[in-house]
Amino acid sequence: MPRRILIVDDVATNRILMKVRLGESHYQVLQAGDGKAALAIAKRDRPDLILLDMMLPDMDGIALCQRLRSDPATATIPIIMVTAARSPDAKMRALNAGADEFLSKPLDETILLARVRSLLRAHETAEELALRNGTERALGFAETTEGFVLPGRVALVAALPRTARTWRGALQPLSSDVLTVMTRAQALSPEVGTAAPELFVIDADLGPAGAGLRLVSELRSRAETRHAAILVVVPETARDTAAMALDLGANDLVSAPLDPQELALRIRTQLRRKRQADRLRATLEDGLRLAVTDPLTGLFNRRYALPHLARIAQRAAETGRGYAVMLLDIDRFKRVNDRYGHAAGDAVLAEVARRLKEDLRAVDLVARIGGEEFMIALPETGPEAARATAERLRTQIQDHPIALPDGSAEITVTISSGVAIGRGRDLDAGDADVEAEIKALMNQADRALYGAKASGRNTVEICRTAA
Ligand code: GH3
Ligand code: MG
Ligand code: MG
Repeated sequence: MPRRILIVDDVATNRILMKVRLGESHYQVLQAGDGKAALAIAKRDRPDLILLDMMLPDMDGIALCQRLRSDPATATIPIIMVTAARSPDAKMRALNAGADEFLSKPLDETILLARVRSLLRAHETAEELALRNGTERALGFAETTEGFVLPGRVALVAALPRTARTWRGALQPLSSDVLTVMTRAQALSPEVGTAAPELFVIDADLGPAGAGLRLVSELRSRAETRHAAILVVVPETARDTAAMALDLGANDLVSAPLDPQELALRIRTQLRRKRQADRLRATLEDGLRLAVTDPLTGLFNRRYALPHLARIAQRAAETGRGYAVMLLDIDRFKRVNDRYGHAAGDAVLAEVARRLKEDLRAVDLVARIGGEEFMIALPETGPEAARATAERLRTQIQDHPIALPDGSAEITVTISSGVAIGRGRDLDAGDADVEAEIKALMNQADRALYGAKASGRNTVEICRTAA
């Protein structure tokens, strides 16, 4: 679907000119000739970006920008403010009102389009995060409800340390962030044990040609700095550099010579956005993790274990190396609960889980698939090794009584297990085959477990016929 851009300008020729330019880049264009129409369209059609003229017949562009920002329905739409005025004061008012960028007429097409691309990209990422969290437009609300903020970790990277120190000197009275002067090398290899900067201010003119831009893409490609905010300082005349910086992943630009007020404001905005995105990302990851883990033991649950087992089976079919599935059940566990109470039972479960995990390889999967039932999947494991592992786990549990957290008792429990072996045949396994194989294997392990229970518990039984 083409991205939709709303152009707000009272001069029809300006709108038409802009429409042609944006149309060439495959954006769909909506138009408004005054503030009232702009508000209505923005609310109704929710465009992906707004190009807003500062002078409108019925309302000041700044006021319109503020109104768009204060309505949750339009609060997160990127806004580029456009004006014939070049005064730094107008720029600061626009940025303070919530505009993402301020461009002077006549508009430079290269920069405008790069800005549009970069803002659309950022907006989409934010919306997607919010959406996946089930908190549509949460970003907009968060922006208005933020209270106390921690100082940011800001890195200043210039060709000459002297330049960066000048930036720091100018920023210090305007910001409460921790401002660190860094070389390019330090930005890329932070000292061990120190937290990576949340925001980088990078001089585009960083030593050898293109070094500043290269740093932008290198920071974007590293795990520790992938989500950092990046602000690039570009000489006012370096239009291509500016456009390229945005396309390489810079979040924002500041033109040199620097206006400290403007830089401080842009840093604040970018830090706030980054933190909102981080929060959303963290909630999302927590949600995913919680969905597949068991809170009592921290082990994976059945929902995670079965697809994982399917991947192991698939892999085995490709490599021809077999694997094993083990079902474990704590013996007479009901008695533990009856005698010591449910909380004691929980403590035993957690400790058994811990021992199982500790005693297995990293590639092995341990999951809690029932009350006191566990499943273990062992990739690249034959019958002998599987039996040895099961026996080792059995003795590990039996030999060491479990002390209750309150010190009231030491409980000895035992486990029984049933093991089945997947052969990893050289089969051209489709999904249905793999699923059938796993089902058969789980059944075999279950029957073996039943056998182990029937023959007196605290034993291992292996199913002889391979699935
Ligand atoms: P068997 O040797 O035949 O496996 O005997 P068992 O007593 O272990 O088996 P049974 O299936 O009869 O009982 C399982 C018990 O596990 C019953 C239930 O109260 C207990 N249980 C299941 N989930 C939990 C839990 O999360 N916490 C605690 N404390 N107990 C649990
Ligand atoms: Mg049991
Ligand atoms: Mg049971």
